[in-house]
Amino acid sequence: MFRKVALRKVTPFLAVTFFAATSLSAQSKFSTKWEELTAADFRSGIQQAKGTCLLPFGILEKHGPHLPLGTDLLNVRYVSLQAASQEYAVVFPEYYFGQIFEAKHEPGTVAYSMDLQLRMLQETADEMARNGCKKIIIVNGHGGNEHLIPFFAQAQLDKPHDYVVYVLDGGRSRPGGPAKKSTGIDYHAGENETSNTMVSHPDLVHLDRAKDESGADQKRQNLPEYLYTGIWWYARFPNHYSGDGSVATKELGEWNMKGWIDSIVECIRSVKADEASLKIQNEFYEKSKHPLETRP
Ligand SMILES: [Zn+2]
Repeated sequence: MFRKVALRKVTPFLAVTFFAATSLSAQSKFSTKWEELTAADFRSGIQQAKGTCLLPFGILEKHGPHLPLGTDLLNVRYVSLQAASQEYAVVFPEYYFGQIFEAKHEPGTVAYSMDLQLRMLQETADEMARNGCKKIIIVNGHGGNEHLIPFFAQAQLDKPHDYVVYVLDGGRSRPGGPAKKSTGIDYHAGENETSNTMVSHPDLVHLDRAKDESGADQKRQNLPEYLYTGIWWYARFPNHYSGDGSVATKELGEWNMKGWIDSIVECIRSVKADEASLKIQNEFYEKSKHPLETRP
């Protein structure tokens, strides 16, 4: 999941410990999963969530020689569901219609076209909002989406919407935790992400294969770090593997995932309490209709 450099910050992850995965909230008799609710319970669930819904956003792409194609989606849904069980929110079903052109050379990648990615996301958000999700938190689980999702959120200012899109990009790194064993770059399917998956889906991690390929930086471009090209990722990590997954541990995964879950819980609470953003958006939409009348 986390990978981009240069323009993207490295964001290790976080983790969970407790609570076996359950979709039932501690505070609620309703499932946190959109698809598990009856129509009547959906109505009550949206009310209980105060219109706050999570859209965990993953992808289908190679994850080194040892992790599943759906790693990003599996992990981001795991932490989102755990968070929603602590602070109730309705969680949208599996969503993996993101940006992954840079892995089209690998088996199992599903790379939708650019316009479809944006249309899918807009229509999904519109449909969520039409069903009462007036506060949509996109929880990003995939490094390749780090430009797409903020762009999408910014584009909501183009036309009036009766809802707000919030973006939570990746896991938050935090001090402390078990010492890492690998010392190099760890962007994709390396020590962090492999550790995280050992927590969310231990049965899908093939640790014994993690050394079958190299996740080393191949440094095949010689450009300033701040000069961007779309091929930068492939130039550096053509095997779609960055880091060393073989040294992953469940302890690191638990630390990472707990921090990630905590940050989502904090966001759900802040968003539920947020009464400013929609008002400010509406003020902006109104003024944008007649800019010449806008005064400081
Ligand atoms: Zn990943």
